[in-house]
Amino acid sequence: MRSLFLLLTLLFSFNSFAVVPEAAYTFEFNVKMLRMSRTREDKVNEAIELLRKVFTSPEFRRRILNHRYNGRKGFANNRGMSNLQIYNAILAGVEKLKPMRNNAMDLELELYTDHDSKVMGYTLPRSKRIWMNTKFFNRHTPANVASNLTHEWLHKLGFDHDYKATWKRQYSVPYGIGYIVRELARKPWKL
Ligand SMILES: [Zn+2]
Repeated sequence: MRSLFLLLTLLFSFNSFAVVPEAAYTFEFNVKMLRMSRTREDKVNEAIELLRKVFTSPEFRRRILNHRYNGRKGFANNRGMSNLQIYNAILAGVEKLKPMRNNAMDLELELYTDHDSKVMGYTLPRSKRIWMNTKFFNRHTPANVASNLTHEWLHKLGFDHDYKATWKRQYSVPYGIGYIVRELARKPWKL
């Protein structure tokens, strides 16, 4: 009886570690593509399919909850939020411009071309649009695009990072979670 209890406790703890909330499965990607060729649209759609896999995976949740910065669990520039709160904020999908818990990524995506720039993409606080430079977009894999979309969208949720490439920047929410997405999206069959 006692060993059965132990076994059940163990099973339960493994399980609860892997459990992904319902909100991860109902999460929607409303990405409106503006003036984009068919081939480029296809790449974005592939990226969104990868994101769907990533967002529903226990690994995505686990990686965010275990993210470390400065010797402890957390992100830099976390707006006072714990890793779990950040994960839940992502699934709630509350953009600053559209403060509704609609459980979705709401974005507009437009491409532009600047061969002289090192900027992959950017967004503006007053717009729900994000801009991506074709110089990078064209050679990016769908996994990279998935990562960039997530990075820019996290700005829409109000998360920021140092402007300059400081040591701390990689641990910010947009960079940290962008890296997690990129890594997981590169091996979707493992999810
Ligand atoms: Zn950024």
